[in-house]
Amino acid sequence: MGNPKAFLTIDRKEAGYRPVDERKCDFGEVEQTLNPEDRRLQASRCMDCGVPFCHWSCPVGNKQSDWQDLVYKGKWREAYLSLTATNDFPEFTGRICPALCEKSCVLNLTIGQPVTIRENEAAIAERAFSEGYVVPKTNIKRSGNKVAVIGSGPAGLACANQLNLKGHEVTVFEKNEYCGGLLRLGIPDFKLNKNIVERRLNVMRAEGVEFKNGVNVGKDIKMKDILGQFDAVCVAIGSETPRNLNVEGRDLQGVHFALEMLQQQNRVVAGATVKDKERISAKGKHVLVIGGGDTGSDCVGTSNRHGAAKVTQIEIMPKPPVGTNPDTPWPMFPMVLKTSSSHKEGCDRRWNLDTVRFIGENGKVTGVEVEEVVWSKDENGRMSLARTGNKEVIKADLVLLAMGFVHPVHEGLVAELELEKDGRGNIMTGESQLTSHSRVFAAGDANVGASLVVRAIASGRSAAESIDSFLKERKK
Ligand SMILES: Cc1cc2nc3c(=O)[nH]c(=O)nc-3n(C[C@H](O)[C@H](O)[C@H](O)COP(=O)(O)OP(=O)(O)OC[C@H]3O[C@@H](n4cnc5c(N)ncnc54)[C@H](O)[C@@H]3O)c2cc1C
Ligand code: SF4
Repeated sequence: MGNPKAFLTIDRKEAGYRPVDERKCDFGEVEQTLNPEDRRLQASRCMDCGVPFCHWSCPVGNKQSDWQDLVYKGKWREAYLSLTATNDFPEFTGRICPALCEKSCVLNLTIGQPVTIRENEAAIAERAFSEGYVVPKTNIKRSGNKVAVIGSGPAGLACANQLNLKGHEVTVFEKNEYCGGLLRLGIPDFKLNKNIVERRLNVMRAEGVEFKNGVNVGKDIKMKDILGQFDAVCVAIGSETPRNLNVEGRDLQGVHFALEMLQQQNRVVAGATVKDKERISAKGKHVLVIGGGDTGSDCVGTSNRHGAAKVTQIEIMPKPPVGTNPDTPWPMFPMVLKTSSSHKEGCDRRWNLDTVRFIGENGKVTGVEVEEVVWSKDENGRMSLARTGNKEVIKADLVLLAMGFVHPVHEGLVAELELEKDGRGNIMTGESQLTSHSRVFAAGDANVGASLVVRAIASGRSAAESIDSFLKERKK
């Protein structure tokens, strides 16, 4: 702890975002960076608490106070080493993690100004790349074991990275043309520039991880063939089944799942050409986003960049409390109203609205009938919904369904191996993340349900630990 009084004298300072009028015109990252001196001062605010709640709340167990101190002392290389001892990809989480750590920072409890942990994390990672501390390891001693990782999202990548560094030969199979999962095709470029993903993949390639793109395992190659070629397999296929809204008019033109638009937009930014009739554009349209979460917010930001006439986001749940929520006291992650940078770019947000039907003309959506609902809690804290009968039609010529994801796709490899599933349809595993098949492990959203990048990384890392132990055990 470099400066024991810094938290008393230095205020939290965020790098902030590019001006709305400017950022709405492009898909460049919206968040800015602080100069190195300000960053050092921000790191100095960490009090190195006896019980570091930030460490407790971070799914990968980052040792935040260690690297804040190292940044304060200008020891950026050591800070990067400390950070990557627990997190394979701080350049991703430093940009898009909801910073569970900051919510549980003691300075959040006491003065409402937590340490800028997430931004400091991104700064360490960027400094490491720009100063050349990130050098691929090429002298890895090989074990002779071969592992297949299915899916190249953060869970698959973290698992592949850890196993490769432990000496196993790793091949990552990915059905898409790009690796990175939702980091690459899903999360908008304005939150995470795709060069950042490619930069990390290049390090992994140089370290010996093999990536096979355009291979849908279970369809293009059967799992029995994969199992014939590899000693162990990690299934990290994400949670790709979106929650649907099976109401009248669902098949009208102009009603899409959120990811249909978001993935197409990532491809367009990367230079792909999309035929006019296949292009999902919000230009000049009244856009209705159904679902109040992060995916919905990404649809809002994307629609505004397309030049939408108006963007409305509706949510069936009540509006969360502003600021604090007694149901989720510190150090828990507060369930409070979240206003993203995309919301600030222009959006009408409404709550307590259920979708009754999609209305259309000549096969195209023109509006959505919604009904007001009210929520009440029973004695067990369970919420239940009642309809009020107050209905209205919201004008919409583009509707984006962003109501979350229910479980991984079952057709294909999950069905072929008859992997056991939990009550929600996720791939069921035991403590070591071993599935019902003796050589197949699972990680990430496919295993625990749709969640966060940092949780996927944590899950990929722990699956790698289990696979490593399994392979060592087999050799005895
Ligand atoms: C729009 C959107 C925005 C989000 N924003 C954030 C955010 O800001 N911060 C955050 O922390 N989290 C965010 N999330 C959540 C986060 O992206 C996910 O929790 C995380 O990516 C899950 O990682 P994963 O590796 O388990 O799966 P995924 O990232 O979904 O990756 C799974 C990969 O497996 C591949 N695959 C699937 N089946 C097969 C097969 N049979 N053969 C070969 N490959 C296959 C897929 O193509 C995909 O590349 C967001 C999610 C969405 C949808
Ligand atoms: S990964 Fe997320 S929770 Fe962990 S230290 Fe970084 S910002 Fe905080």
